[in-house]
Amino acid sequence: MYDYDLLVVGSANADLVIDVERRPAAGETVLGGDLAVHPGGKGANQAVAAARLGADTALLARVGDDGHGRLLLDSLRAADVDTVGVLVGGAPTGVALITVDPSGDNSIVVSPGANARLTPGDVRAAGSLFHASRVVSAQLEVPLETVTEVVRQLPPDARFVLNPSPPRPLPAEVLAACDPLIVNEHEARVLLGDACVSEEPADWARLLLARGPRSVVVTLGAQGALVCDSSGVTRVPSVKVDAVDTTGAGDAFTAALAWRLGSGAALAEAAGYAARVGAAAVTRRGAQESYPTAREVESL
Ligand code: ADP
Repeated sequence: MYDYDLLVVGSANADLVIDVERRPAAGETVLGGDLAVHPGGKGANQAVAAARLGADTALLARVGDDGHGRLLLDSLRAADVDTVGVLVGGAPTGVALITVDPSGDNSIVVSPGANARLTPGDVRAAGSLFHASRVVSAQLEVPLETVTEVVRQLPPDARFVLNPSPPRPLPAEVLAACDPLIVNEHEARVLLGDACVSEEPADWARLLLARGPRSVVVTLGAQGALVCDSSGVTRVPSVKVDAVDTTGAGDAFTAALAWRLGSGAALAEAAGYAARVGAAAVTRRGAQESYPTAREVESL
């Protein structure tokens, strides 16, 4: 008997967004629009996306003992995410300072803050959460040693899903635990490095699978996704929608896939559902604000 369908281990950030006519040069000050503060961070995004779909979800993360931390805790609780694993203090809450110019291009400075202080010791101390969870998912906005400890804490029957974002080389121990490793085009290219000689996503999936994960998913935006395991590569079609804002689509996709896998779906079937969730998420502005309920996914 599990308490949680999904345990997400990862980041929680406050996204501070200002529209600007143009970015300041060094030493210059420009005036912008009103400040908008949005809950974000890949860990919190995944947890909110899963909970919105109806999954019993817990988040293991760290925020600061400050206003941004309280805002994040409030938004997680409002989405029905269990915050028993959200640790408070040690550094200011992680922040992304985002300026958006009239063409819609972003410039972003991230201060990882408390996310960088989520330690392997914190993961060990949260052992009971791992034993209560059917599926565990992670990303790389917290230290790699912390994600490595997550893999060590996995109970034998728990499934591990990793979106290696922002991408960096992964230890064999982490790769071997992934079922699946979920990458977008950029993450696939960075992880493969010099080995990325083909422009074919199916080749990336096979090359990544050869590095040790039990399965691989490559997400391809409006083109849908590919799933790859020992039985080969399968294409998952996308759902045709009018995309308004793709922020956080990958996080929604990962959360939905992890939840469906935990409910017993096969990989291609879970990815098909996740593609519908990702498609629904791009039809609305924002990240967490854009995530659909299960009913909205059904009516897509
Ligand atoms: P990321 O946000 O990590 O870059 P993607 O852009 O590949 O990830 O999006 C994740 C998934 O969301 C895709 O595999 C697809 O299923 C869905 N998706 C993203 N953009 C669109 C779109 N424009 N139309 C339909 N589905 C989309």
